[in-house]
Amino acid sequence: MQQVRTRFAPSPTGYLHLGGLRTALYTWLLARKYNGRFILRIEDTDQEREVPGSVELIYKSMRQAGLTYDEGPDVGGDYGPYIQSQRKDTYLPYALQLIESGHAYPCFCTKEELDKRRAETTQRGDTWKYDKKCLSIPKEEAKRRMESGESYVIRQNIPATGTAGFDDILYGHVEVSCDTLDDNVLIKADGLPTYNFANVIDDHLMAISHVTRGTEYLSSAPKYNLLYSALGWTPPLYIHLPVVMKDATRKLSKRHGDPSFEDLLEMGYLREAIINFIALLGWSPGTDQEFFTLEELIEAFDETTLNKSPAIFNMDKLTWFNTEYIRRLPFEEYLELATPWFDKTLQGVEIDYKRLAELMQSRTEVFNRIPDMVAFLKEVPEYEVGLYINKRSKTTVENSKEALEFILPVIEGIEPWSEPVIHDALMGAIADSGRKNGAVLWPLRIALSGQQSTPGGAVEIACLLGKEESILRIQKALKKLAAEV
Ligand code: GLU
Repeated sequence: MQQVRTRFAPSPTGYLHLGGLRTALYTWLLARKYNGRFILRIEDTDQEREVPGSVELIYKSMRQAGLTYDEGPDVGGDYGPYIQSQRKDTYLPYALQLIESGHAYPCFCTKEELDKRRAETTQRGDTWKYDKKCLSIPKEEAKRRMESGESYVIRQNIPATGTAGFDDILYGHVEVSCDTLDDNVLIKADGLPTYNFANVIDDHLMAISHVTRGTEYLSSAPKYNLLYSALGWTPPLYIHLPVVMKDATRKLSKRHGDPSFEDLLEMGYLREAIINFIALLGWSPGTDQEFFTLEELIEAFDETTLNKSPAIFNMDKLTWFNTEYIRRLPFEEYLELATPWFDKTLQGVEIDYKRLAELMQSRTEVFNRIPDMVAFLKEVPEYEVGLYINKRSKTTVENSKEALEFILPVIEGIEPWSEPVIHDALMGAIADSGRKNGAVLWPLRIALSGQQSTPGGAVEIACLLGKEESILRIQKALKKLAAEV
């Protein structure tokens, strides 16, 4: 078997979107599975669409995702350069060779002429494709005009009859009638190739064995195969990947506010969770295994079992994965990752982050939810007294006030201020008074936090807040309750 060489070939049009990340991941897995080489190629021939800074963002995202490449613009390799705009001179000789063999021809039609003929065609109710007008220009004349500096493009000469096809690992043999295909531009007036040409030339020159890309290229692939055969080259193996959808009708897209890989990382999704989730968007191992490291993915991945139907991006499922991954983090790592998020609301507040992290780790779904969850430690939020009412603990606004009046002096007497001591003092006093735990602990936790759910119970929160602050909060709560009863 020929050495497996796969490539991820993004255009630098912005952030790395999640569909792109999935393509990159599958392409990387394919190379790693077969001990092949994984190549990064930047496809920047459409310079109008280029967004400054996005090449660097691609390098960064690939590294953050753990998808190391063996060859690429910033790592080098034997088949460079790996940025298409730096390969400008590579393409023209092949296009001229195709003109020579009759598989391509120069076209001198101006934009105005094309617009006019296109309008006439569509007015008649026909679909426009280039009408091969310039194909009839005698070769010598065409050559003279090209050399005279007249503006021209080079078009692929699709046979007027017959069929064109290719084999896809997922979609099988795809074949179309040539009369449905347009004579695409291969080289633009600025001398740069279009994607339609550059992908063929570069995939061949870079000895790519498998081409993995989105299904949006499925309908053009027959044309690419015509080019391979015109140049006398063996086409690569193709795997076209179905789109990633937001829901049944909408494609995932940053323009519609769907997050990019960078966004997810910034929100506090762990890269391992994102990768795991993305891997399963359109592929399943055929077993019950749900959690995969990159190494395990290499082992389990099978390109022949990729799903042909569009994958739906389910944010809740990603969040579920993330929660699980956060739970499994070694505690020290969690603490380190959580600290800047604690700081967002707690900077300057004296709080034992280590204890807080212990309470928070199993409750963290996404890191960016932490600041809101812990903000109450800085300041009790505005809350309704209705929070004191709880069926299970049978608390009401009235008996909550009474419970807090009972527990305040107990708290004032606690020394030293540590969880076990606070715990024993509260439990002892509650038991001695014949009350139920919930009847005191519920209102106490509300008084201390001003919210229904908290990381940890009344004891842990009191300990985190410190004695003085706890007492102040209970006194404040008593005033609030007094105003109601
Ligand atoms: N440059 C193309 C894109 O970003 C990639 C297509 C391919 O992988 O061949 O959509």
